[in-house]
Amino acid sequence: MNSTARSTWSGWDPYPLFVQGGSGSRLTDVDGNTYIDYLLGLGPMILGHRPPEVTRAVVSMIEDRGTVFALPTEDESRLVAKLIAAVPSLEQVRLCNTGTEAVLYATRLARAFTGRSKIIRFEGMYHGFSDGLYWSKHPDLDEAGPDRAPVAVAQGPGLPRGVGDNLIILPWNDAGLLAEVLEREGHDIAALITEPVMCNTGCILPEPGYLEAVRELTARHGVVFILDEVITGFRLGLGGAQGLFGLKPDLSVFAKGMGGGFPIAAMGGRRDIMALVADGTVSMAGTYAANGIAVAAANATLDILARQGTFESLFERSDRLREGLERLLSDARIPSSVVGLGPVFQVWFSEHPIRNYRDAARHASHTVFRRWWEGMMERGILFHPGAFENLFVSCAHSDDDIDQTLAIAREVVAELKGT
Ligand code: PMP
Repeated sequence: MNSTARSTWSGWDPYPLFVQGGSGSRLTDVDGNTYIDYLLGLGPMILGHRPPEVTRAVVSMIEDRGTVFALPTEDESRLVAKLIAAVPSLEQVRLCNTGTEAVLYATRLARAFTGRSKIIRFEGMYHGFSDGLYWSKHPDLDEAGPDRAPVAVAQGPGLPRGVGDNLIILPWNDAGLLAEVLEREGHDIAALITEPVMCNTGCILPEPGYLEAVRELTARHGVVFILDEVITGFRLGLGGAQGLFGLKPDLSVFAKGMGGGFPIAAMGGRRDIMALVADGTVSMAGTYAANGIAVAAANATLDILARQGTFESLFERSDRLREGLERLLSDARIPSSVVGLGPVFQVWFSEHPIRNYRDAARHASHTVFRRWWEGMMERGILFHPGAFENLFVSCAHSDDDIDQTLAIAREVVAELKGT
């Protein structure tokens, strides 16, 4: 397996599906079974599989122009102009290949800009697999310290000792605690990084006022506010979660959705901070950064997403699915909630409300989730087997797909109820 997220460890037990290919909202495995796909490559396939305009743009780039030049092109300037027009907090942007890279650049830049070392990161989020941030989504809470003072726990072996000393781990959705920590240690903290919605623990929503408090507190202490929009960007709207919530972070990172299935990411924000990248003080290199294929794909993807009505109809279908699932589960009196926003959400099987990672780790039932997942999968509905992952809806999902999914969910919920 070429990613931990495709392994037995992540729930693909005893082994993952092997894929033959995909088209629109459908994915077909090597045995010829076809699924309505809510895994969507873990998010990039916002337009569905093989969106024709993106495919044509990529093929034309390869056939007519080339792929890697190690020199700038007008296409990448056009792409960056589109990003800046779409997302109000972006004044300058750098392109790279993956979310992991973009986050790494953002944290490096924040450290260079502030001259400080520490980074605040929240329990249960994921910001890529770099040594610096692959921490504190640990299933064994006994190792993770007290609820209001978590310690940095590596998410796996192989990380250098001491890297975690540069992290301050906090529970999410607790503005009071954040205020205390910033009051005490703010002078030492370079950046705070957060997802706007905790999509890496099954889509926990920010409580009203929380992100605004994060914005205000980080500004007060000169801490760079990094918004990780790798999942939410170009999914919750053309302006990402920040557009939807009216939020203005200092730096933001984007990946997944912006490339329509090709590896591209972006890091950008305030001009005075980005100046350190622009003048070469902070290095952001990469042989494949802004390569021709990815740029062509992203230009085509953003043009499609920018069309009138795209997000309205994506949200309409997604909301119908989410609300339909919610109704089925609550009518069956199965302790659960369907939590998320628009085209990204998760079903929690829990009697308790989930507002941060520890709530999820303590209360969410993996056993019931597993039965839900298996029931859906056996009937042709595909999503990730991890209870802390998400379902993604694409622009290619039709009303018919949603109807079929709800009809199948009705059968599976009846089974869950009967046991
Ligand atoms: N940040 C977030 C919020 C993510 O969900 C992910 C990937 N799931 C990343 C960063 C890392 O992105 P990539 O897999 O492209 O390196």
